[in-house]
Amino acid sequence: MAVKGRFAPSPSGRMHLGNLFSFLLAWLSVRHEGGSLVLRVEDLDPVRCQPAHAWQLMEDLEWLGLTWDEGGESPASWQSNRGHLYAAAFEALTAQGLTYPCFCSRIQRLNEAPHLHQVSPSCPCAALTAEEAAQRALERQPSFRVRVPHETISFTDALQGPYAQDLATQCGDFPIKRSDGAWAYQLAVVVDDADMGVTQVVRGRDLLSSTPRQLWLFQVLGLKAPEYIHVPLLLAPDGRRLAKRDADLDMGALRRRYTPQELLGLLAHMAGQQDSDCPVTAEALAQRFDWAKVPREDITVDAALLDPTY
Ligand code: GLU
Repeated sequence: MAVKGRFAPSPSGRMHLGNLFSFLLAWLSVRHEGGSLVLRVEDLDPVRCQPAHAWQLMEDLEWLGLTWDEGGESPASWQSNRGHLYAAAFEALTAQGLTYPCFCSRIQRLNEAPHLHQVSPSCPCAALTAEEAAQRALERQPSFRVRVPHETISFTDALQGPYAQDLATQCGDFPIKRSDGAWAYQLAVVVDDADMGVTQVVRGRDLLSSTPRQLWLFQVLGLKAPEYIHVPLLLAPDGRRLAKRDADLDMGALRRRYTPQELLGLLAHMAGQQDSDCPVTAEALAQRFDWAKVPREDITVDAALLDPTY
């Protein structure tokens, strides 16, 4: 079966070098195998996400020659238009007795940082009776969590190796719907990867700890899970993770300093695909791409890259 990968950007700012590193590896992996790619816009959070960032991201990827075969401009591949699919999955979970309303306020912020999920093993709302919950719902609109079992989910990441997590103690009942009706990343990503027929997920290592709960959702929803490959993060010389706020490494600054081939050469060198950062095209890299050469550990970018006078 042909491999199908995906780009799953959250349009909350301009793409930066770290995002690009993951996207490039996702693209190379699929293109090396002659597979296809879908671009899905993860704009679940109406406050943080703006269509303009999505259009800019597509233009930046095109500038680099990183093409996709489905999705992109098509409204059906924007998560903000896919709520009916998440609602159906929510109903399926509810029918299995796996959801419950939560009246805690911290959950409001759940979509702001999917990478920074905090363990909440014992949400007090899990113990509310239906009557108590109905009573509370008169005062405030609840959000919803899924009730996870005491079960260890194990899988082998193609780059990071074996990984296991006990859902109840290491993850806890996690949010799937916000009180304002917005769907949570964890539910949407599973529904979409299955619906779009994605067979290979390549993404940053910061999402490794989200994978067991996603695998469990695939299981309880009766959906087929993809293969996972979690790639290293890019770090600034002082050890912090590159983020969208590092405007010095966003695509705007990078495009002023480099040609597409120069930028790909830099990234290919970091990804272990060539001995130097000499310019290269995306196609040439795809032909000789080799996962065995990609480092597992996070990569500290050269200080010169962060220096605008470089
Ligand atoms: N949209 C997420 C992000 O930009 C990525 C989700 C995923 O790859 O599963 O961080």
